[in-house]
Amino acid sequence: MSNERGDSDRASAAFCILNTPQLPPLVALWKIGLTFLRQLPFLNATFIKRRDMQTLPNPITSQTPISSICLSTDGTIHRRKTRPVPVGSLYIGGGHPVAVQSMINEDTLDIEGSVAAIRRLHEIGCEIVRVTVPSMAHAKAMEQIREKLYATYQPVPLVADVHHNGMKIALEVANYVDNVRINPGLYVFEKPNVGRTEYTPAEFNEIGDKIRETLEPLVVSLRDQNKSMRIGVNHGSLAERMLFTYGDTPEGMVESALEFIRLCEDLNFYNIEISLKASKVPVMVAANRLMVQRMDALGMDYPLHLGVTEAGDGEYGRIKSTAGIGTLLAEGIGDTIRVSLTEAPEKEIPVCYGILQALGLRRTMVEYVACPSCGRTLFNLEEVLHKVRQATSHLTGLNIAVMGCIVNGPGEMADADYGYVGKQAGYISLYRGREEIKKVPEDQGVAELINLIKADGKWVDPE
Ligand code: SF4
Repeated sequence: MSNERGDSDRASAAFCILNTPQLPPLVALWKIGLTFLRQLPFLNATFIKRRDMQTLPNPITSQTPISSICLSTDGTIHRRKTRPVPVGSLYIGGGHPVAVQSMINEDTLDIEGSVAAIRRLHEIGCEIVRVTVPSMAHAKAMEQIREKLYATYQPVPLVADVHHNGMKIALEVANYVDNVRINPGLYVFEKPNVGRTEYTPAEFNEIGDKIRETLEPLVVSLRDQNKSMRIGVNHGSLAERMLFTYGDTPEGMVESALEFIRLCEDLNFYNIEISLKASKVPVMVAANRLMVQRMDALGMDYPLHLGVTEAGDGEYGRIKSTAGIGTLLAEGIGDTIRVSLTEAPEKEIPVCYGILQALGLRRTMVEYVACPSCGRTLFNLEEVLHKVRQATSHLTGLNIAVMGCIVNGPGEMADADYGYVGKQAGYISLYRGREEIKKVPEDQGVAELINLIKADGKWVDPE
């Protein structure tokens, strides 16, 4: 923040100096230069971004904003205690690893395509696969998809996503999948009434009774098959009566979920997971925190499915998802995650695993520690890191550090199992833990690192 202000102050000061009447040639030069630079698309974008950078208003509080949530200070994440909820052969919650899930984008009527897409996702580590089921024909197609998957591959935990007024569809598809996701805002869809300004308690409850009536057969079916349900609330599709009563707020999202939870509990059904998704990260974070507070107060321990919906694509889509999902996971909240990208679903899985590994919740790859490089760096760090990664990325479980110099490198490479550290021009040192093992010429560094790992019996050949 102070840097931003400093940069902008310096820019203004420079502009003031250059804009004084005593310096007309410089002013002219400045303006010509500026005009020229603004013709260059890349630089133009940079100018606009710097000029338009805003600091958004956020209240400052002296209290811990989330005092009821357990924030650990011992370097590990303490996960919220939840009940285990089955999804096929897996469990969500109950201390089980945070499960990674995604959703295929094939038409479910395309049996071959859907089976291949489910298999593709599962083979790269997606543990639960969701399929959209917008009609009864799609629900029936799930029977064939499941059969074909079992016959040609293996059982994969499957979730059916049911849409507007999906009660009959949900009831049918519950026979073929392990979990049914319903959206409380759409399950009994009431067309918005344009002239309406409020819901009376009687009207509110009347719709509640209708929901109970339509939800009951699905709940009974899932309960009797020991399958599960996700109550998946979306900020963008809250039911009108919830909007009128609680507003377009995290509270409205939470109340929407609680209404469905209570209906399930009335029927002795507890295989429930909850999701509260929004495309705005602060809303999604707030809704999940509030849900946890409410559940704690009510003695409920249902696991949470985390995701930032409509996160978009590319770098920013990944950043948004990581900001929302990572924040909550770091607070111990969350039992399964989906990163929703506007890209092929296969692209979502590495992001999920990256978030989980960065937080120390799961381990699926080598943990690399590398310094950012600076004037002391003794080799091309980016290039060497790339070479080290290429040679060792299959050694899941190891921590490997690549550090530019011995001044700070050994001390800062945390608890790495092995270190590759710049020693002097043309030479690097290899470390086992904090112990320097040998100095080798830089061009032999990667090969010698491999030899060291082999000598320790920790090497496996890549598949
Ligand atoms: S480890 Fe050395 S080279 Fe790397 S950033 Fe720190 S001081 Fe610079």
